[in-house]
Amino acid sequence: MSRRAVVIGAGLAGMLAAAALSDAGADEVVVLDRDDLPEGPGHRRGLPQGHHAHLLMPGGLDAMEELLPGVDPRGRLLAAGAHEVSLSSGLLALTSEGWLRRWRRTGPVMLTCTRPLLDWVIRTAVLEHAPVKIRKAAVTGLTGSVGRVHGVRVAVADDEHRDEELDADLVVDASGRGTRVVTWLDGLGLSGIRERTVDSGLVNASRLYRVPEGAERFPLTIVQANPFVSRPARSAMVMPVEGGRWLVSCGGSRGGEPPADPEGFLRYMLGLPDPIVGRLVSGAQPLTDVRLSRSTSNVRRYLEKAPRWPDGFVALGDALATFNPAYGHGMSVAAFGARVLGRELKGVAGELGAPGLARRVQRGAARVAEGAWSMAVSQDVLYPGVRGGTPTAADRVVSAYTRRVTRAATGSYPAASALWGVTGLRTPPARMLRPATVLAALAGSPLPPSTLPPMTPGERKVLERLDRTGV
Ligand SMILES: Cc1cc2nc3c(=O)[nH]c(=O)nc-3n(C[C@H](O)[C@H](O)[C@H](O)COP(=O)(O)OP(=O)(O)OC[C@H]3O[C@@H](n4cnc5c(N)ncnc54)[C@H](O)[C@@H]3O)c2cc1C
Repeated sequence: MSRRAVVIGAGLAGMLAAAALSDAGADEVVVLDRDDLPEGPGHRRGLPQGHHAHLLMPGGLDAMEELLPGVDPRGRLLAAGAHEVSLSSGLLALTSEGWLRRWRRTGPVMLTCTRPLLDWVIRTAVLEHAPVKIRKAAVTGLTGSVGRVHGVRVAVADDEHRDEELDADLVVDASGRGTRVVTWLDGLGLSGIRERTVDSGLVNASRLYRVPEGAERFPLTIVQANPFVSRPARSAMVMPVEGGRWLVSCGGSRGGEPPADPEGFLRYMLGLPDPIVGRLVSGAQPLTDVRLSRSTSNVRRYLEKAPRWPDGFVALGDALATFNPAYGHGMSVAAFGARVLGRELKGVAGELGAPGLARRVQRGAARVAEGAWSMAVSQDVLYPGVRGGTPTAADRVVSAYTRRVTRAATGSYPAASALWGVTGLRTPPARMLRPATVLAALAGSPLPPSTLPPMTPGERKVLERLDRTGV
């Protein structure tokens, strides 16, 4: 019996799901995307967030390595110019509680590169190693019934008014933040899916610069937003990407949005609690305009709670849950969802249409999205003007405790490593409640918080040389 899987969307969730499907033995995996996909690491319409900084957290990279055995995604990304950034030693990070100390130990490592490069490397790796086909087509709906999805309806490319049907044993919706999954399910008779949106009104503003000579090894530098002062979030980051470039991103929630004009963009960075990002880039050569993104709300579709679920259909990645990008978790959660799919498929010997499989995958994918969701929402509700949520008593307790761990993390290794584990998505948020972390939080930092960035003398010289602001 031929077993065909159809994946809607050739973004990260879609390509990783295709790898999992192929690895589980699907005879045919067809990925449909409405975009023409670029031959190299180029921008495209369906991926507008590609202009903004994307951190690939250690937990997400682990999941990709499991999904692409023998492909070495980390090695391929590094060979293509991505950078490894150690969370313990390679970051200059100002938190709400002061600068994080830099340790000698390497600790967990995240990857930085442009999003177009990341997508291109992963897409190419999947296509080289698995019999996956990509076809240009816009999906307009699902076929089948509330008990079983039989395939998708796609718009015929040369005729806007005509659809054709494509049958599949399993359909994966990986069509991202703009998915129409709730409407599509409604069309099958499955209505009443609950959705929640928590929108801090965050605006992201990003610009690429040429890394100035001598600054090639300057660490990723971030001035984080402070959720504890009843003011809008305002943050800035300069991160190294391929091609000797810095990608500089500012993020501000409602009332604190960064502007798109170059002078205002620089002023915004210089006006943060520490002007370091603005000072660094003040003398650097810009390579692009400032690009804005307003697609930043947290959206959760509670598909796993539907009273019934059709066999033969799952939704993964941003189609299931999207997060405020300030936390850098969306791509990792997309990889976790694909990993759930792969593991569940192995449990049914790759039988794509196995009864109950889709529901188990949907529930598992929801579970692995939960940590990132609760971290994002419990912090976002603290910002003024947020829509879709107010802080509950539990949020206030969690945020007071997180603040305490963060304060301890400025100088205590156990507290810092708990924080990297959770924010790097290597361990669930419950790690914060392990006895060692609680003790570290109670003990606090053995050192007073540093008011100055923990730079080496060489880095200080680089900053002074680059600074054109006189701040
Ligand atoms: C400004 C910004 C910054 C971010 N920064 C980070 C970060 O630092 N770290 C991180 O991990 N995440 C970050 N994210 C989140 C990350 O971009 C998403 O979580 C990730 O792209 C989700 O992948 P996906 O494959 O689910 O969706 P997408 O990458 O959006 O892919 C969806 C695909 O589906 C296609 N498609 C859509 N509709 C259809 C249709 N009807 N038919 C056919 N094809 C269709 C699209 O063309 C696209 O190719 C950021 C997001 C934003 C907005």
